[in-house]
Amino acid sequence: MLALALAVVAPFCPQGPLVADPVEVERTVRDLVGFGTRHVLSETDDPRRGTGAARSYLEGRYRELVDRSGGRLVVERQEFEVPCRRRGMPAVVKVVNIVATLPGTTDAERHYVIGGHYDSIRGTGSAADGVAPGANDDASGTAAALEACRLLCAGEYPATLVFCAYDGEEQGLLGSTAHAKALAAQQVMVDGMITNDIVGNSMGMDGVRRDGHVRVFSYAPRGEDSLGRSLARAASWASRRVEGFDVMLVFRGDRYGRGGDHRPFFEEGYPSVRFTEPREDFSRQHQDVTERDGAPYGDLPDFMDFEYLARVASLDAEVLMELASAPRAPGAVQIRGAREAYDTVVRFVPVEGAVAHEIVWRLTTSADWEERRLVPNDVLETEGGRWASVVLEGVCIDDVVVGVASVSSGGHRSRVTAAPEPDAMVYRAASGDSGR
Ligand SMILES: [Zn+2]
Repeated sequence: MLALALAVVAPFCPQGPLVADPVEVERTVRDLVGFGTRHVLSETDDPRRGTGAARSYLEGRYRELVDRSGGRLVVERQEFEVPCRRRGMPAVVKVVNIVATLPGTTDAERHYVIGGHYDSIRGTGSAADGVAPGANDDASGTAAALEACRLLCAGEYPATLVFCAYDGEEQGLLGSTAHAKALAAQQVMVDGMITNDIVGNSMGMDGVRRDGHVRVFSYAPRGEDSLGRSLARAASWASRRVEGFDVMLVFRGDRYGRGGDHRPFFEEGYPSVRFTEPREDFSRQHQDVTERDGAPYGDLPDFMDFEYLARVASLDAEVLMELASAPRAPGAVQIRGAREAYDTVVRFVPVEGAVAHEIVWRLTTSADWEERRLVPNDVLETEGGRWASVVLEGVCIDDVVVGVASVSSGGHRSRVTAAPEPDAMVYRAASGDSGR
C-alpha cells in the first residue's frame, strides 16, 4: 500500500532545469542602458532616449513572448498618478509599470509576482537630465524578470504568474506600491512576490568574485531580533557554518537604510522577498558616469557578470515554476506533544489537489528545514474525514519548528505553513491583544 502510494508522487520535479541565457539578459541590460536615462521624470516622447522609450521597449519585449505563450500572456501598461515625498521631486508623479500576466490553468486566483525596477537615477536622484545607465540597479532585475517570463511562458501552471517591470522605485517604491495596493484593494491572493534588485554583478569592491549565491532578504512581521534572540545569537557565534552555492538567507527585510519593491507587498500582508547579489559595489550605485584614472566609471554594463545574472534568472524561474505548479499551501497547521512520550503530533487539513503532504521540521535555531517526511494521501489518517494527523516519533515538540507543505503529483512543493510558536501567546498577552 505504501509503496503503491509513493509511486504516484514524483519525489521532486522530474522536468529538466530552466536555464536562463546570459546572451538574452545581456541584450536586455545593454538595450535599456542605451536609452541614456530611465529617470521617472525623463523624456516620454523621444523614441530613442528616456523613460518613454524604455517603457515602449519593455512592453515590446514582453509582447514578443505572447506567441510563445500560445496567446495566453496578457501584456499591459499600468499607469498611476501617485504622491511623491522625495526632496526636489514634484508632489505628484506619473508612473508606468509594464505588467505581463500568464493566467493559471486550474487555480488562477492564486498569484505569484516577480519584478525588477526599470527606472534609474544618477548622483542627484531628483535630476531627470544627464546619463543614468542603471545597468545593475536595476536593468539587471528587469532583465531577470523578463528572462524568467521567456523561460516559463510556454508552460502551463495551475497558478497565475505576473511579471513586472516597475517604475519609480528610486523615488520611493512608487510603481510597486501602486501595484501592491491595487492588488490588495481587489483582494487578489498573492502567495509570493520576488523583487530582483541589483542582481547582476559578482565582483565585490574588495576584488573578490562571489558568484555562488544570491542573498534573499525577508521581512519578519514581529521583528526577528528580540533581545532574547540577540543573546542566543551571541552564544551561537562560534558555531556558524559556511554554505555552498545556492541562496544566503538574510532574516531581515532589507539592507540597512535601504528599501525595495518587495516592501509594499509585505505591507499589504503578502509574502515577499528581495534577491540581491552577495556584495554590492556601492561605489557604482546611484553615481554619475565619469572617468577614474582614464577609465569609464558608473553603473555600466561592462562592470556586470551576465553569467551570474543568468543564474539569478534561472533561480527566479525555478522558484516560480515550483510554487505555481504546486497545490495551495496548507491552511492552519497544529502541533501537540504526545502524552508521556517525546513524539510530536502534527494536524492539518489536507489540501485539495495535493496527492501528498510533506512534514518538515528543524531546530528552532536552524535557518532552514532540516528534516522532511513525505506522506502520500492514501496513507493519511483523517479524523471525521477532515483533519489529518501524523505522528513524528522521537521528535520533541519543544525543540523544533514544524511545518507542512502540499505536494502535487509532479512532486512540486507549496510554501510551508508552520505551526504557531508558543511565544505568540506571550506576545498577545504583552500587547493586551485578546487573540481574536
Ligand atoms: Zn534598485
